[in-house]
Amino acid sequence: MNYKELSELIYPSLPHTAEEYEAMYPPRDLPEGAMVTRLGPSPTGFIHLGNLYGAFVDERLAHQSGGVFYLRIEDTDDKRYVENAVETIITSLGFFDIRFDEGATLTGDIGDYGDYTQSHRGDIYQTFAKKLLAEGLAYPCFLSEEEISVIREEQESQRLSPGIYAGWSKYRDWDKDPEIASEVETRIKAGDPFVIRLKSKGVPNATAEETKRHAVTDAVRGELSVPDNFLDVVIIKQTGIPTYHFAHVVDDHLMRTTHVVRGEEWLPSLPIHIELFEDLGWELPVYCHTAQLMKIGEDGNKRKLSKRKDPELSLDFYRSEGYHPAAVREYLLTILNSNYEEWRMENPEADSDEFRFTTEKMSSSGALFDLDKLNDVSKNTLLHIDSRELAEWLKGWSEEFAPEYAYVFKDMDHLAEILDLGRHDARPRADLVYARQIMGFIGYFFDEAFKVEDEFPAEAAADAEAILRAYLDSYDHSDDNEQWFGKIRQIATDLGYAAKPKDYKKNPDDYKGHVGHVSTVIRIALMGRAQSPDVWAIQQIMGEEMVRERLEAAIRNS
Ligand code: GLU
Repeated sequence: MNYKELSELIYPSLPHTAEEYEAMYPPRDLPEGAMVTRLGPSPTGFIHLGNLYGAFVDERLAHQSGGVFYLRIEDTDDKRYVENAVETIITSLGFFDIRFDEGATLTGDIGDYGDYTQSHRGDIYQTFAKKLLAEGLAYPCFLSEEEISVIREEQESQRLSPGIYAGWSKYRDWDKDPEIASEVETRIKAGDPFVIRLKSKGVPNATAEETKRHAVTDAVRGELSVPDNFLDVVIIKQTGIPTYHFAHVVDDHLMRTTHVVRGEEWLPSLPIHIELFEDLGWELPVYCHTAQLMKIGEDGNKRKLSKRKDPELSLDFYRSEGYHPAAVREYLLTILNSNYEEWRMENPEADSDEFRFTTEKMSSSGALFDLDKLNDVSKNTLLHIDSRELAEWLKGWSEEFAPEYAYVFKDMDHLAEILDLGRHDARPRADLVYARQIMGFIGYFFDEAFKVEDEFPAEAAADAEAILRAYLDSYDHSDDNEQWFGKIRQIATDLGYAAKPKDYKKNPDDYKGHVGHVSTVIRIALMGRAQSPDVWAIQQIMGEEMVRERLEAAIRNS
């Protein structure tokens, strides 16, 4: 039996040859410099900020260069598969405005380079595994788990690198030993389980000086010197399904990916991928190994975001709290590219897509994620969204995540007015952060949510009823801001309060308090809170009826 015969024995009837696949998926007809990127999430049901971070890089690179960004579902790890996970991936990313040009969608594939789901590509992987077998670059390996653990123990005792490589699997050199060759043939015919391993050409356990190295330019990390692989890694599992390594190489070649953006946890496997690309005679894509997302932990030190400890790692967090996608996008750009904030200061009104994103400006040592910073960015971003548009967006959010707020959306013009409050001042108010917070923040405009949260200030508590009565009696909804405040001042002085805080501060014994204490009583009666935007402006939005009702209720309760 020679290599070719072995490959035929293992894969007697595949529908296409390697050459046919090459012809079916020819190089893409794209302008010079156009990048083809992909996102390859595994459908584990957990889609996280790291996925989104990577997706932004992919999306920007492709769309800035007039290229293609596609979605590939990497479901070769059958143990981790979760029902509806693909739907979760697509809808979560869609929420953040990540749009694919090609690939898996909820209604099937779009594009000429599919199928885009790895579990549907079995024949393709097997065809290329067959090619490697036929060229003596791969071999079937029948080692059992027990045999492999004996090998590992032996390697440990000899202080050698763990793994299967030259000298450790007798099946590697089957062609040099007729007995093993006949065992291989018999066992394949008998249907015994086996994996297909790469027959690595690297030198095992070589010293640093002896180790051959490959110069690779990583778009994020710059020049890398990658050691030669020597491991006979599994490329096809017993189930016939490829490993990540093999699927990555075959798919990214056939789908004509130019830039592979992936987490730095894949860097240690790069030697394997280099050897596989070489064996298959294919050009290496440009790798962009992105840094891990970090945060400042409770102890003040940087640490990786953790699924267990950090709810903000899950994308669901942002959706259910109601962060506006534009805010998350804006924030991610600030951590993705060190020069983004400067650009934003110079171009406050520009669309973030106008920013020229580059992989060179990405951190290679851990990008720091900070929820407080996101909140700050969000306040600013929301200021730039038209209040009517924001109202519509909040409505959509509420319908999906918080139907208990349906009352907020009964009158959309009214809501837009509420959201607009203080936004056009010389120093615009920026207190809107995310949907759930906004619902709380504007709650006092709705009887359904109104509640008294703060207490009357001690200086004016005893006079609360008198203040509110006087205020209600003199209330004229058509007063302008100045007339309105004049009346409050009058009430204050009538009841023994200073008309100006500084008078009270100068002579505290002459007054019960000052006009601020008086207006806080009114504020609490109307809004239930000691802090709020301008009372007069709020009253104009609330309408006369609600203002009078709130005052009457507060008088009854005081
Ligand atoms: N399926 C891999 C993962 O979820 C993707 C890695 C890659 O982009 O190559 O980690």
